[in-house]
Amino acid sequence: RRPPSRKGSMADVPKDLLDQINRLEDLFIVPTEKLKEITTHFVKELEKGLSVQGGSIPMNATWCMAFPDGYETGTYLALDMGGTNLRVCEITLLEEKGEFDIIQSKYRMPEELKTGTADELWNYVADCLQQFIEYHHPNEDMGPMPLGFTFSYPATQEYIDHGILQRWTKGFDIDGVEGKDVVPPFEAAIAERNLPIKLTALVNDTTGTMIASAYTDTEMKIGCIFGTGCNAAYMENCGSIPKLAHLNLDPDLPMAINCEYGAFDNEHVVLPRTPYDIIIDKESPRPGQQAFEKMIAGLYLGEIFRLVLVDLHQNPDCKIFEGQDIKALNKAYSLDAGFLSAIEEDPFENLSETHDIFSKQLGITCSRPELELIRRLAELIGTRAARLSSCGVAAICKKKNWETCHVGADGSVFNKYPHFKLRGAQALKEILDWPAGKGKGRGDPVEILPAEDGSGVGAALIAALTLKRAVAGQV
Ligand code: BGC
Ligand code: MG
Repeated sequence: RRPPSRKGSMADVPKDLLDQINRLEDLFIVPTEKLKEITTHFVKELEKGLSVQGGSIPMNATWCMAFPDGYETGTYLALDMGGTNLRVCEITLLEEKGEFDIIQSKYRMPEELKTGTADELWNYVADCLQQFIEYHHPNEDMGPMPLGFTFSYPATQEYIDHGILQRWTKGFDIDGVEGKDVVPPFEAAIAERNLPIKLTALVNDTTGTMIASAYTDTEMKIGCIFGTGCNAAYMENCGSIPKLAHLNLDPDLPMAINCEYGAFDNEHVVLPRTPYDIIIDKESPRPGQQAFEKMIAGLYLGEIFRLVLVDLHQNPDCKIFEGQDIKALNKAYSLDAGFLSAIEEDPFENLSETHDIFSKQLGITCSRPELELIRRLAELIGTRAARLSSCGVAAICKKKNWETCHVGADGSVFNKYPHFKLRGAQALKEILDWPAGKGKGRGDPVEILPAEDGSGVGAALIAALTLKRAVAGQV
């Protein structure tokens, strides 16, 4: 049941569509040599980000300065402000090594909030926390609970309980937040409601993912998100962070670095951008930023796909959806990564699911050749995303000379997108020159595994580790 390729099985596809498929393959396929070239450049850019002059990858120090030992205890709140949901958890770390209890509530993050005002955002967040406390602790008179706040955007931190938002990513565009510390307005909204909450740590989702995964697996060295956005964190030693040298920290002290490598190649040196990637960037609220992320993250996959189809329809040399009204397809960001997942999961013999979603969601009736082109396009976009994603992971391993390690990964694309894991493992094998038999995931030298709950347990652990450091009087 092989997907169609240049080498045949597409005999019935008319020449104009076949020509387009070949053109798209040339645009979207990233061969091994290119993956290696990207990774080599990536390593240099990671280094640059740690230097005094800096580079385009922020390499943010997070002040999370230890792995958990599994014996952390206490009760903590965790707040995850993701793109689609807002989640509040109460986590109790138990005496038994690596064990915990968790209760949680999810609240929908209204789409308008993303482009609304800062007040609306912080009031909404605080309202959710208030609901959580009122529901789970009615009429209880409790002391302040330490909170780990997972804020999954790039932030400059001089302390763990503060963070200046460098810039919004993932389509957020709220005025008056960038360049400012996000903690004071958050705390003000908490204080207004008299909530028994004390923000202890501001955490990136990648750092949370790394720490949560390390709680149960000591080989975990990197935490990654392949979701709406993309990014990774790893544990550096302070002596390898020139931009912190002025602080005279013990060079052997660990420091989690939130790479923010969605910003990789913002200067467009190495990534094989297509005309469609250029449109995505131009039309985004933050052109010129998150170049890497815009080619691989879940927020953009459906949009890249949509842009290609609209372009093909307008191309006089290609007769796709001829004579059909493509009004629905013309709407920006109307297709999400789930739409591509459904196409990639559809059995190739019939592609009936693909036929149905095109007709139901877009009012377009597809012929068999059109369905085959659609399927191939989804594969190309999904495969490129997985392969490029692996360059970031490989670059961290190369920078640290880690020949083997576990990588904890989370996010909707990693967890739900068909074949993403296998395609990523195969790319790692090509980049890192593993022998035959490797590159399948399980048992690979660098193994990307589903993470433990980073924005819940991870954020709670980081709060616990922070309090432990404070008690010990450490930085
Ligand atoms: C953000 C990162 C985050 C990643 C995954 C990116 O857009 O800048 O902070 O870790 O998305 O959520
Ligand atoms: Mg998340």
